[in-house]
Amino acid sequence: MTSIFAMSRTFKPRPTPSSASLTQGTKQYQLRKYAEQTLGSGNLRNAVVLPEGEEVCEWVAVHVVDFFNHLNMLYGTVTEFCNPTRCPMMNAGTKYEFLWEDGVTYKKPTALSAPLYVEALMSWVQNQLDDEKLFPQKIGVPFPKNFLSTCKTILRRLFRVYAHIYYEHFDQICALGIEAHLNTNYRHFYLFVTEFNLVEKRDMIPLAEFNDTIAGEYK
Ligand code: ZN
Repeated sequence: MTSIFAMSRTFKPRPTPSSASLTQGTKQYQLRKYAEQTLGSGNLRNAVVLPEGEEVCEWVAVHVVDFFNHLNMLYGTVTEFCNPTRCPMMNAGTKYEFLWEDGVTYKKPTALSAPLYVEALMSWVQNQLDDEKLFPQKIGVPFPKNFLSTCKTILRRLFRVYAHIYYEHFDQICALGIEAHLNTNYRHFYLFVTEFNLVEKRDMIPLAEFNDTIAGEYK
């Protein structure tokens, strides 16, 4: 396994991030198209609901890939500010610090600087997405039994990157003029994981206030 320390700071986005690059007529293509259309209608609450007759795993797979790609892009905009000096720990304010453990390189929960933590996290997610046994690429290949539990772990971990960006880099996001993009993306993430109970409420405590606001907006 490549050491995360040796890897480039630039994350490689998954090669199939948008419907344009998915083969027309495939299930994922149709679902992504559908998701884009409902998102375009402006109601995020409706946009996360499982389309009639569709399989949950398929729907979750499309979203996990999209959230990963979006978050990769959003974090990419603040990497120059997120360095070991300014962010010596992976935190969300002073109350929350996250420890990294992947069972391979880091066998015990380990304190890492935010950039190293995010790099380890994103590389780990990328490896999950690239694993065809977990995320089948071919039509008709069934999803494995542990698919949803793996997605829960992925999403729980991705949440921490949102939390770090909100607490530590929101000023920079605003200076770049992309706070609306971050907010919409996080709203979508929150509504999606809530709709399918994919991340426990207690794991999203750092953004609890914002989460309550979002929940209130879509009642
Ligand atoms: Zn940072």
